[in-house]
Amino acid sequence: MKTRFAPSPTGFIHLGNARTALFNVLLAGNKQGCFLLRMEDTDEERSKLEFAEALQTDLNWLGIYWQEGPEVGGEQAPYWQSQRSAIYNHYYEELIKNKQAYPCFCSEEQLALSRKLQRARGLAPRYAGTCRSLTQAEIEKKLAAGLIPSLRFRIPDNTIIEFDDLVKGKQKYHSSDIGDFIIKRSNDGASFMFCNAIDDALMGITHVLRGEDHLTNTPRQVMIFQALSLSHPQYAHISLILGADGAPLSKRNGSRSIKELREMGFLPLAVVNYLARLGHYYEDNSFMDLKRLAQLFQESSLSKSPARYDESQLIYWQKLAVQMLTEADFWHWVGPTIQQIVPKNLQREFFMGMRANFTFPSEAEHWARIFFEKVSFEKELQVLKEAGKEFFEIAENAFKNGINPQEVYSLLSNQLNVKGKQLFMPLRVALTGEKHGPEMAVIYSLLNKEEICSRLRKAGEIELCH
Ligand code: GLU
Repeated sequence: MKTRFAPSPTGFIHLGNARTALFNVLLAGNKQGCFLLRMEDTDEERSKLEFAEALQTDLNWLGIYWQEGPEVGGEQAPYWQSQRSAIYNHYYEELIKNKQAYPCFCSEEQLALSRKLQRARGLAPRYAGTCRSLTQAEIEKKLAAGLIPSLRFRIPDNTIIEFDDLVKGKQKYHSSDIGDFIIKRSNDGASFMFCNAIDDALMGITHVLRGEDHLTNTPRQVMIFQALSLSHPQYAHISLILGADGAPLSKRNGSRSIKELREMGFLPLAVVNYLARLGHYYEDNSFMDLKRLAQLFQESSLSKSPARYDESQLIYWQKLAVQMLTEADFWHWVGPTIQQIVPKNLQREFFMGMRANFTFPSEAEHWARIFFEKVSFEKELQVLKEAGKEFFEIAENAFKNGINPQEVYSLLSNQLNVKGKQLFMPLRVALTGEKHGPEMAVIYSLLNKEEICSRLRKAGEIELCH
């Protein structure tokens, strides 16, 4: 089995195309197959090297690597379509020779007008066939006049085009419903429809998993394969991802680029675990690495209906991913600022005790500053005032004398008749400035005795100065 991801490097990759790449990786991985990356950069104006590079960085960040493609090479190199024109030209020649393609001199204006007329008559717009039957003499005359043609594929008359889609099932089209389409633009650019098909054949791709927006391109591509006696891959057109509003997922309704997610502090395996389940059903709901996700990936579990993007699910996987981090990966994830704030000798306690409280590095920073820089009571003054000065005096003295927390609680509870929330909340706020957060034991493990006493003293002074 050989699968591929064939992006057009015209922007940063988003959740949608990352999922397509991932599904192809998982499908190949499931069958110990090969995964290939191909840059479909024939659109000179919109394709940018910076996007192609970012795309590779993003895929690698997700843990996606290719066995053939840019950087790694392979037998069918080059893997950049912009460098493959000689190959496409060879096949253009063959189609022209066999009268399966013909030059078209229609201008954009003529084509637009023809489409408008067809629509007005209630017909689906398709190429009217104006240049389909030009004689050689007519062609030469137009060429001599300086007109530059595009090249159109001649759709065979009265043919049924059929293929089995792994997701959508049996597909059947009639050739009379499809107009002759452009395979080479007048500016010499190869069309997506053509080079995508040629490359899949030459690169030995056995399975193409792509968005269902390409489904109607497939009969056209099947005809290209047939015209050139090339065998075509097995197609699987996956359902689109919809936003919460029911419209296709886009920037407008919450899609983010992989780069953005990375910069926000999302972890690659969180994104991967989420995407793998977006339109593919896994019975196993546990957090998995790519290898395991591939082992359990099944074409038959690809959903026929659209998947809905739900950020809260992504956050759910993110929380699990944070829990799965090794200590070294955790420090790498939180970054150098936080590494510097947390003293070396407490880094292990901080990692072990605090990670359950973090979804993003910004939260780690917030707590690191609370423990090791400065505690601020501003938000929760009321809690401290209600507890009163005596509460903190008793607590401070007890901690100063090395009494363990359990006994401190008993002492406070006996002397002031406080329990539950009235007991723990003021202590928590005095030590962290927050009403919620890690377990008390974690707080004690990160603050030394002096710091605990000093915070309790300051908490007790609040009543006087406010
Ligand atoms: N370059 C095409 C795209 O980005 C590839 C489609 C396909 O996977 O065949 O949409």
